Amino acid sequence: MAWAGKILRVNLTEGTCKSEPLNMEWAQAYLGQRGLATKYLTEEIDPKVDPLSPENKMIMTTGPLTGTCASTAGRYSVVTKGALTGAIACSNSGGFFGNEMKNAGWDQIIFEGKAKKPVYLYIENDKAELLDASEFWGTSVWDTEEGIKEKHGDPMIRVASIGISGEKGVKYACVVNDMHRAAGRSGVGTVMGSKNLKAVAIRGTKGVRVKDPKRFVQAANDAKKVLADNAVTGQGLPAMGTQVLMNVINEVGALPTRNHRDSQFEGANDIGAEAMAKERASDGKTNLVTNAACFGCTIACGRISEIDRTHFSVAERPEYQIISGGLEYEAAWALGAATGVNDLEALTFANFICNEQGFDPISFGATVGAAMELFEDGVITTDNTGGIELKFGSAEALTTLAELTGKGEGFGAEIGLGSKLLCEKYGHPELSMSVKGQEFPAYDSRGIQGMGLTYATSNRGACHLRSYTVASEVLGIPEKTDPLATDGKAGLVKAFQDATAAFDSSGLCIFTSFAWTLEDVAPQVDAACEGDWTAEKLLEVGERIWNLERKFNNDAGFTAADDKLPERLVKDAAKTGPAEGKVNGLDKMLPEYYELRGWTQDGVPSNETLDRLAL
Ligand code: SF4
Repeated sequence: MAWAGKILRVNLTEGTCKSEPLNMEWAQAYLGQRGLATKYLTEEIDPKVDPLSPENKMIMTTGPLTGTCASTAGRYSVVTKGALTGAIACSNSGGFFGNEMKNAGWDQIIFEGKAKKPVYLYIENDKAELLDASEFWGTSVWDTEEGIKEKHGDPMIRVASIGISGEKGVKYACVVNDMHRAAGRSGVGTVMGSKNLKAVAIRGTKGVRVKDPKRFVQAANDAKKVLADNAVTGQGLPAMGTQVLMNVINEVGALPTRNHRDSQFEGANDIGAEAMAKERASDGKTNLVTNAACFGCTIACGRISEIDRTHFSVAERPEYQIISGGLEYEAAWALGAATGVNDLEALTFANFICNEQGFDPISFGATVGAAMELFEDGVITTDNTGGIELKFGSAEALTTLAELTGKGEGFGAEIGLGSKLLCEKYGHPELSMSVKGQEFPAYDSRGIQGMGLTYATSNRGACHLRSYTVASEVLGIPEKTDPLATDGKAGLVKAFQDATAAFDSSGLCIFTSFAWTLEDVAPQVDAACEGDWTAEKLLEVGERIWNLERKFNNDAGFTAADDKLPERLVKDAAKTGPAEGKVNGLDKMLPEYYELRGWTQDGVPSNETLDRLAL
């Protein structure tokens, strides 16, 4: 119950689609989505495999609550070995695709091999077939999605696809569904492109069964009330979206600016939630059109925006769409503060190209920021950039590079390498603000110390969605801790990491955790799923998942030496704001973290820990 009980195994090399039963023993140990798909992946591939070879596999996966009436229960994830990092990758997306997949009766779709020519997978409930995608290859996510719906004569089909960037091997390509919702990080779309898989299109009408429907509806309704009564999920996120954070994070001195040279951005006011809601002098409209919700969500944090038609970005390029999803905070930061650009319309334009051609705005913006530093330091010149004056603050350079990266052309192809390979190529690896090859998101760990440990130990490379200690260190959720202190942060990070892994495996959105603890999730899972599910059990499942991911990375060749931050963050003190004079104290937190995890000081889970977690 709640699980559909079925996996679709698609062999792209052979062109076959086969159904097989879900391993219910593993479902009890790993719950679903992130955890369960990671179990399958780690059982089925060699950790040392080249992420872009046919031997790598890619799994689309729902959680047991996906498709139910629980709030935010529309999630799915893409699990694979990441193209950007070479580490375990799990990228989670909202929208409506996950719900459709579950309603078609599939817990997971495992893709293996590589198709000889571009294909897409078409699913109608139990029926699944691979179809020729040559007419969609070379087109954007938006054209692919519309084209597939038109071809099959059904506007209700849900599509997840890659854009041209994923076809061209941009290292941080996404899988985009519902036009602008993305499994965004670590290059899961790059892996999909390497398999010649353009899209997955699904129509599902079977419904989702739960163990105890009456108790489940009650538990889901109780939990919805908790979301509605909470200031963040009931007011802040619906009204202002994640962009509510821009000025908050700037004020605490943790808004990484110009490739982390600074930790406060003088243009923050121009690119945050308030700016999106402000009437433009040019046309009397606001950038923000409305908020929006994913399937079944009672929070509705999403933003839909419209670019000013007179802005140079769209005036010069009328072929692009001017209404789409975003800006979300992370994208606004990466495209804005990380590059020093305070032009909201230019940021929106660049973000829409990320949506349209399917690449991660965080890694893109951060890589542009690194390239701008290389340019300003004289390491690269207009000879390298194809004539682009790549200066911090240049909206022109940002929008031009967004277009080029989306197409994998010109200097955009080099931006598509990600900051690690780009900075290595030009002899300055220290300028890549990344961990395990993945660029930092929007929090400077000199001003929010726990985020330094979060980034260093994140199993998919630098990431805020593996342990959002910002909640505690800045917002006081579930309780306030001092953002500038390192004491107690090892335990805080571990607790967030384990709980997040459980949330991510349930089918629910992690943003619920601003209001919910696992005590709110457990009654919903328990009423829906076979077995006895308590908060304690969910936390243990989360810890098991974290260690399984770590073991995969260790077997892939990652060591404690990869749990590190760029020197800039541990040697160059913040220059302004509350964190002035501070560096990140990773060296103080990491040994305690290893100990709390039950790992050796070499960062390897001990045999005792593996036995305790039945790994
Ligand atoms: S909180 Fe936001 S991201 Fe999460 S499901 Fe709701 S609308 Fe989607």
